[in-house]
Amino acid sequence: MDEVDVLIIGAGPAGAVASAFLNNLKYKVLVLEKLLFPRFVIGESLLPHCMDHLDEVNFLTDVKKHGFQLKTGATFYKGEQRLGFLFDDQLTKGWTWTWQVKRADFDHILIKTAEEQGVTVKFQCEVKKVECSKEKQVVTYTDNIGKEITVKAKFIIDASGYGSVLPKLFNLEESVQTQPRGAVFCHIHDSKRTSNEGENIFIHSFRNNTAWIWAIPFSDKTTSVGVVSDSDFVKELYANNGEKFLNHMRTFKDLKGRFSDEKLVFEPREIQGYAKRSKKLFGTGYVLCGNATEFLDPIFSSGVTLATGSGLMAAKLTHKQLKGEKVDWMNEYENILRKGIDVFRSFVLSWYNGDMQTIFFAKDINPDIKRQICSILAGYVWDKNNPFVKKHKTILKTLAQVVRINEPA
Ligand code: FAD
Repeated sequence: MDEVDVLIIGAGPAGAVASAFLNNLKYKVLVLEKLLFPRFVIGESLLPHCMDHLDEVNFLTDVKKHGFQLKTGATFYKGEQRLGFLFDDQLTKGWTWTWQVKRADFDHILIKTAEEQGVTVKFQCEVKKVECSKEKQVVTYTDNIGKEITVKAKFIIDASGYGSVLPKLFNLEESVQTQPRGAVFCHIHDSKRTSNEGENIFIHSFRNNTAWIWAIPFSDKTTSVGVVSDSDFVKELYANNGEKFLNHMRTFKDLKGRFSDEKLVFEPREIQGYAKRSKKLFGTGYVLCGNATEFLDPIFSSGVTLATGSGLMAAKLTHKQLKGEKVDWMNEYENILRKGIDVFRSFVLSWYNGDMQTIFFAKDINPDIKRQICSILAGYVWDKNNPFVKKHKTILKTLAQVVRINEPA
């Protein structure tokens, strides 16, 4: 039976970053990935904070070479109202830009770079069974011809994303207390894009705050367009090969005909039931990171940044444990990660209950408040100097109330 120090399930951003960090410390790392890369996954707008994580494992040089679309901010629209954020005007002293990426290419570059650094990655290998104990972890997977193989590891990092391998095997999944939502999306040519509109992500809210449409421009003059809403409306949009979605996108007033006669790169796709949460994020012999921990909603593009951040944090603590030091996984990992996720949760909840839009589309937004919000949108959700981190549970509601008093409808 093969034996490794750390076995990582999944070669997405969380797994790639975790694998590179541990490999750089000379651990024998094995990544098992179910699919063949490049593979499609949704989640194309990054946040500046993820650049810190990519930099720490020496991925940035290789990613830069690809020429992904620069992202310097995000713009939100509601009818004629508009609010643009630029990351160079934010509270936290951090990265002021990042990229918008086709994830097939981006994820492939990350894991290829990890491989070049020395990580062993086995594609088309699906983890089926895991037994964890104090002494050793035993993982059984099937390879590309369906052969069952067993491997031993000192520690397991579950970075299986939507696959949720350990949450499913160990019965850790719990329901998320939000309304079920879904998304329908496609990639489309974008020849009418103007620099006036900018090449950053833009988000249009419609249907009385219950739906929003994204446009995420890529550097090859194609764009990702999608609608997120309650499951039933998304099903309706997706029916008949996305007929209503396409019609909606092509005629959507605020997109000003930009996609009216453009060719699709691929037909509309639908994704439902992506919101999920694991009851706990670690156990004897393993830790979860990335989407395997929790994923709530795509509105603030937090997924990849939380994946790279948690992958890195998990890898650092795995190192600490493997070198014989005691790790308090609850306080050093789970509580910290959940704090960051909870900041985004408050933002997501206030987006759908309308508070956030009241704040965004107020007549005047105080520049300091805007800077603080901008840092959350850049992914800096652990900056204790930011009131929107410290008081995230109450501040948005209070602020929206103040706007409503000052600007009655
Ligand atoms: P993944 O990227 O899902 O990678 C996990 C890997 O594990 C996969 O390659 C999978 O094949 C592999 N795997 C699964 N099961 C097994 C198994 N049994 N054995 C071996 N390997 C396995 N995030 C953003 O940052 N920006 C956005 O704009 C954004 N938009 C989104 C829009 C929508 C509609 C949705 C639903 C999500 C969006 N996200 C966005 C979230 C983003 O998709 C995820 O947060 C991100 O992909 C998580 O990365 P990860 O590394 O945890 O997992």
